Amino acid sequence: MAKKANKELNVEEKLQALYNLQLVDSEIDKIEILRGELPLEVQDLEDEIAGLETRITKQQTALEELVADLKGKHIEIEEAQMLITKYEEQQNNVRNNREFDALSKEIEFQKLEIELCEKRIREFSSEIKNKEESIATSTTFIEDRKKDLELKKVELNEITSETQKEEANLAAKSEKIMQSIEERLVTAYKRIRGNARNGLAVATVERDSCRGCFNKIPPQRQLDIRMRNKITVCEYCGRILVDKDIETPLVVLEKQLAEEMAKKEEAKLKKTKRKTTRAKKATK
Ligand SMILES: [Zn+2]
Repeated sequence: MAKKANKELNVEEKLQALYNLQLVDSEIDKIEILRGELPLEVQDLEDEIAGLETRITKQQTALEELVADLKGKHIEIEEAQMLITKYEEQQNNVRNNREFDALSKEIEFQKLEIELCEKRIREFSSEIKNKEESIATSTTFIEDRKKDLELKKVELNEITSETQKEEANLAAKSEKIMQSIEERLVTAYKRIRGNARNGLAVATVERDSCRGCFNKIPPQRQLDIRMRNKITVCEYCGRILVDKDIETPLVVLEKQLAEEMAKKEEAKLKKTKRKTTRAKKATK
């Protein structure tokens, strides 16, 4: 079951909570912008180094296999040479030409085997040389990248440590506000914020326009927004719209408005009073 907010908020309070959440999250965004691309750059470098290390490991395995193959060919040559020596000794004790020729063929065969092995040894040696060079280059490259990474990490740490406390405070604040709002709205807020390039999910209406996308908002809609009795989204960008005085409760605004009206009314009344007195005086 979805977690219920401690206190059910009315629409105005919901809008205010969303607006406050936006303020806090925008502060967090500002800090992140300050930190810039550094975290991404660090991540990219770490990935690159990991990739290079995997490649080197593979190359090293291949190199070890080549060295083992090379060793095998040397052993094959030794064995062939031993056989040749054996056959040559046997040739000294043959009973006829046929046996001598058969042994000669064997010797010839072993000599060919040795030649073949030598050819393979040359090939393997050249491959080994290539692999060793490639490993050496990759290793130097990795060392350079690691130095870059260290520098970037130091830089990032410096920036992070400066803002860490502030960020933690803001994150806690954001979390607290989120908990006061019903989950459905928080999800919508997060979705809109995720899609918006400037991280704005809640936009105020200023100069008759949405602050998120700067499109004009029709007067009737602006009135609805000012009434604060339903959640209105911008029909162009989908952001949640609030009036620019959202921080002040409607009752306070209404009271201020009533006071202003009363003052105007009083001024008007005084004016007419003066006028009538003047008029009366004139007729006397
Ligand atoms: Zn908009």
